[in-house]
Amino acid sequence: MHHPPLPTRESLREVRYDIRGELSRRAHELQGQGRELIRLNIGNPGAFGFRAPEHLQQAVVAGLAGADAYTHQQGLPAAREALADFHRRRGTPNASAERIFVGNGVSELIDISLRALLDPGDEVLLPSPDYPLWSAATILNQGRPVYYPCTPEHGFLPEPAAIEALITPRTRALVVINPNNPTGANYPPELLRVLVDIAARHRLLLMADEIYDGITYDGAEFNPLAPLAGDVPCLTFGGLSKVWRACGWRVGWGVLSGDPLVIGDYHHALDLLSALRLCANVPAQSAVPAALDGPETIRELTAPGGRLHASRQAVIDACASSRHLSLVAPAGALYAFPQVVGDAAADFDDQRFALELLEQESVLVVPGSGFNVPASRHFRVTLLPDAATIREVFARIDRLLERMAAR
Ligand code: PLP
Repeated sequence: MHHPPLPTRESLREVRYDIRGELSRRAHELQGQGRELIRLNIGNPGAFGFRAPEHLQQAVVAGLAGADAYTHQQGLPAAREALADFHRRRGTPNASAERIFVGNGVSELIDISLRALLDPGDEVLLPSPDYPLWSAATILNQGRPVYYPCTPEHGFLPEPAAIEALITPRTRALVVINPNNPTGANYPPELLRVLVDIAARHRLLLMADEIYDGITYDGAEFNPLAPLAGDVPCLTFGGLSKVWRACGWRVGWGVLSGDPLVIGDYHHALDLLSALRLCANVPAQSAVPAALDGPETIRELTAPGGRLHASRQAVIDACASSRHLSLVAPAGALYAFPQVVGDAAADFDDQRFALELLEQESVLVVPGSGFNVPASRHFRVTLLPDAATIREVFARIDRLLERMAAR
């Protein structure tokens, strides 16, 4: 009997995730043929030799004994208490364990939090470039992404007037990714206060993706949004993946803050959707109190002498010495987002560039258009390889750009 191909969901046509897309598939194919590649596409510290701190590993092992049962849908009580304490200490208004949601990574919570918020056609203000899961989850939950541009001319910072001009009666939320993936921008408190003011005047939910909380360079200070938000409802996302280098454990959290009367049923909507997926990975949640109450270890990597500091400097130096590249130095997070300029940028197609870089120079990056930037001349690299590898990568990038400039 002949079966026609299975139907797939129509809205998936609008969804992309280039970080693990076509190029990544081609990379696997090449590796299968024995080609050695330098992969800079995924912000996955464990794949570059980083390990979760020892005291977190021990906490997971110790927690394993009591972790065979499902736990509360919002997360292990000890993890939520530790998160509530941490957020109270930093001034998050009304932080409490009841309003904390632990998920299988921030990824799951981004989906749940938009599903709990959106009716068909509702709009979500997202940065462009964005972290593409935000666009995907908005579209798959029947919302509409509305992009506010963050351009290199403005240091990749949001421009409040441009954001306000995009607000309509259907706008429900303002998403702020700080420190930013893919640009590395770190937002100053004055800017965050203006964003809070916009959310207050237009009754929007602030969604603060702060998974790179505290990953900053050269003395830049990370500024959490919630402590500045007062009564404005704010859902802050954080997790173990980046700051504690434990991507594979799949632990993220959402902290709901602001006036409980304004939050209203949204809290129950998050609780219901959390209950429908039962709970997040229980053993790994045992690491949360250890992470929040233990020594800070990310600074050792981002301060002068640290590996991330050295790799970031190698990217900055390589871009400064290339006549084909311009860079806004990343102030935070784990990425740089250089721009191709000059002769090499004529008739530039970022997808073709990334494919040629892979085929000809065995380097895998993510083209800028993968982050929902129209007509991008950018590409994203992670800062996770060591500085020597970064120098080799940029030598190869320059070699290709030289050939492109000569065409
Ligand atoms: N948000 C941002 C900005 C990210 O860069 C990532 C991962 O790279 C995530 C969320 C998802 O992180 P996880 O699901 O590992 O917690």
